[in-house]
Amino acid sequence: TNLSDISIFPRRESEARSYCRGFDTVFVSAKGSEMTSHDGTRYIDFLAGCSSLNYGHNDPDLKAALIDHIQVDGIAHGLDMHTDTKAAFIETFEKQILAPRDMPHKLMFTGPTGANAVEAAMKIARKSTGRTNIIAFTNGFHGVTQGALAATGNGYHRGGAGTSLNGVTRMPYDDYLADNGDTTAYLEAMLEDQSSGLDAPAAFILETVQGEGGLNAASPEWLNRIADLAKKSGALLIIDDVQAGCGRTGKFFSFEDMGISPDIITMAKSVSGFGLPMGLVLVKPEHDVMGPAEHNGTFRGNNHAFVTARVAIEKFWADDRFEQDIKRRAELVTQGLQTIADMVPNAYLKGRGMMIGVDVGCGELAGDICALAFERGLIVETSGPRDEVVKILAPLTTPDETLSAGMDILIGAARHIVN
Ligand code: PMP
Repeated sequence: TNLSDISIFPRRESEARSYCRGFDTVFVSAKGSEMTSHDGTRYIDFLAGCSSLNYGHNDPDLKAALIDHIQVDGIAHGLDMHTDTKAAFIETFEKQILAPRDMPHKLMFTGPTGANAVEAAMKIARKSTGRTNIIAFTNGFHGVTQGALAATGNGYHRGGAGTSLNGVTRMPYDDYLADNGDTTAYLEAMLEDQSSGLDAPAAFILETVQGEGGLNAASPEWLNRIADLAKKSGALLIIDDVQAGCGRTGKFFSFEDMGISPDIITMAKSVSGFGLPMGLVLVKPEHDVMGPAEHNGTFRGNNHAFVTARVAIEKFWADDRFEQDIKRRAELVTQGLQTIADMVPNAYLKGRGMMIGVDVGCGELAGDICALAFERGLIVETSGPRDEVVKILAPLTTPDETLSAGMDILIGAARHIVN
């Protein structure tokens, strides 16, 4: 096919792929934090596959390892088998990630999406406790399969498919009340009061920073209260780190330094580090209750993803230099976002680490800023129940000068629209 003849919106593709309609071009290559379209235009990428490309596009070391693996006819798909790449990934993950953090958790590979990891986590919690009810939180997002969707706050995703909320109760997240009221006190009262109708919970599931729900970042105090309540009520604590994990908030796990110890952690998106699909749950040994192949799936554990995931961990997480880089870059982005917040009445910053944005009050304004930024060479999206947050998810590896260039485009677009 001649690239100049490619139709931007292929006639046969379902409307379901509506998101890409905001990016009115066809992309053909990408490197680091930049993407190039079919006509040679270069864009800075502040979306990074919605946090699936934390280490950038086509990282040279990950790419070389994958090419080497394919070159020697390494295993691509090894269903129901041990493979060398799988063993090497597990060993590296244990040594570099779990052991230094004193985490006893076992790894279980799930289907390759975040939603499938969430399904597995909910099933494990239900099996381990013998209870059904899962407590999820307002504006949480956990995926679009039926179980994960039941825990998701967003009515648009939930509504159309008629998903019932059976077995899931939604409670207010931190900062849900305008007067900063303590939402954990409400939850505690509901848990203790027979008349609330709240069944004893199998688990609490939550994101420490709500990626799709508008970058609401829970405070350490709130997280600790929730962890205490989970323990007190005999429920497991599931942290959904699909979007906030793999360094996005500044540490490998988003809950590090928060003083909590989740029973189950869900991960996907950036685990492979290369945009290859891989989903997994980390489970404390006492809750490792699934029988062999009980949560199975043909594409559980992608061997190409194991190759790149291992190199990503060895390259970026062997010491704390990467964490320092993320911290500096987050400060740089924060400064730029503050410039935008200063232009818009009542606008304010949200999020944590490199998962930050600015709430400009309405979806139309946020959308207009992102659209103009795209015309000027920056890929950026909105988040939040009304799409009111301009959200930055740049690769964590983005060089400072590229980050500054991207923020300049965003600030310029905001200035043009606001004035
Ligand atoms: N959990 C969280 C926190 C997410 O952000 C997402 C995706 N945005 C999911 C689960 C679902 O992941 P996937 O789209 O891979 O199913």
